[in-house]
Amino acid sequence: MSRIAVEAAAAPDEGGSLADLLQAVRACRVCEAHLPLGPRPVLQADARARLLVIGQAPGARVHASGIPWDDASGQRLREWMGLSAADFYDATRVAIIPVGLCYPGRGASGDQAPRPECAPLWLDRLRRRLPAVQTTLLVGRHAQAQVLDAGGGRRTLTATVRQWQDLAPRYFALPHPSPRNTPWLKAHPWLEDELLPALRKRVRELLGTP
Ligand code: SF4
Repeated sequence: MSRIAVEAAAAPDEGGSLADLLQAVRACRVCEAHLPLGPRPVLQADARARLLVIGQAPGARVHASGIPWDDASGQRLREWMGLSAADFYDATRVAIIPVGLCYPGRGASGDQAPRPECAPLWLDRLRRRLPAVQTTLLVGRHAQAQVLDAGGGRRTLTATVRQWQDLAPRYFALPHPSPRNTPWLKAHPWLEDELLPALRKRVRELLGTP
């Protein structure tokens, strides 16, 4: 790990710019020994962003491209948000930070969980440097556990997402948009009927998109 990343990891958060923090994040190698393809943090952040997407961790395809949500899950997430790729990847409008910033490798059933070292080290520091964010999407159970549990989050993803109106518009809790979750989406049509229209309306309000 570089000197700047060591200092950022060891020191309490005493300020500093988003640019400095992003430099430290991109140099991070804290859990290198556990990452089968090595460290490659994948995120986008700009202090002007009004919307934040917190997902779980990059998959292998996103690790290869270095572009967040550059896969079938991302395509479905953009449809849910009613956003074009151009708007979604405009860092001055949308910040994208997963709970685990690097690809954690494959497990017995899909990708491994985000590395546990990552969010305590970086997520809150990054969020503190995004002062314009008014709505945060919590995509998947790892994001919901990380952000909501300290504030009394509910136990299951389905319960958390079903009671989305308790959290909105500050947060929109969503299931992971992976094609693997299509059966869950079919079993819970209220997501498409109730939650997604409200999400699209909020995104339009914040970003001024058509
Ligand atoms: S997953 Fe997070 S803590 Fe681990 S090397 Fe990547 S940026 Fe650092």
